[in-house]
Amino acid sequence: MPSELLSQMYGDRIAADQELGEPPLPWRPPEELPLPAWVDIGKWRHLGKPELINAVFRCTRCGMCLTTERCATMIKARRRGKGHHELYTPRGLISVIRALLEERVQIDELSPQAVEAASFCTACGRCSVPCIVNKAYHEGISPSPNIDHKQLFESYKLTLAEAGYDMGRRYRKMLAAVAGQPAADPPDEEGMEDEDL
Ligand code: SF4
Ligand code: SF4
Repeated sequence: MPSELLSQMYGDRIAADQELGEPPLPWRPPEELPLPAWVDIGKWRHLGKPELINAVFRCTRCGMCLTTERCATMIKARRRGKGHHELYTPRGLISVIRALLEERVQIDELSPQAVEAASFCTACGRCSVPCIVNKAYHEGISPSPNIDHKQLFESYKLTLAEAGYDMGRRYRKMLAAVAGQPAADPPDEEGMEDEDL
């Protein structure tokens, strides 16, 4: 991994530690990492887990996840003529989640594009593989635990579904199950399963 990327990610400390031959910092479970004091975790029924909040704030915005092959969010955006709009990328999804957590945008104020991008995401978790934070952890050069994109985006979609946005059949069923009701189950406008990619 290029040292300038490491430096961007973790500051000069890690790069300096490496030059000095220091061993990697010990792994700490995500629940032990400090949470951003300005996030009202109790407000978020599905996203309000320490490991998810920490994941959002550990994203370095490096863009390595934009190289994910077979990402439904990016593929559907291209098929619908949206080119490579940032919102329709794993990094863009995380940026919107962060804006919500920091209350820079309210959930009922999300742009149609932001909602559409979330609906395109299948929460498959493929973008976890090229993610630079996860690579650094697996290579033993960072104590930061994985960003679990699958769990993060699933919780995000559930959050949007609960707020009244259409995230597709699966999320309607999940919400209905939580409420103990049968799901109203109209067909999705355009489903996209893994085999379609
Ligand atoms: S979870 Fe899957 S569909 Fe969603 S952004 Fe990541 S790779 Fe794309
Ligand atoms: S690769 Fe990981 S750290 Fe980089 S922008 Fe994507 S989610 Fe964030």
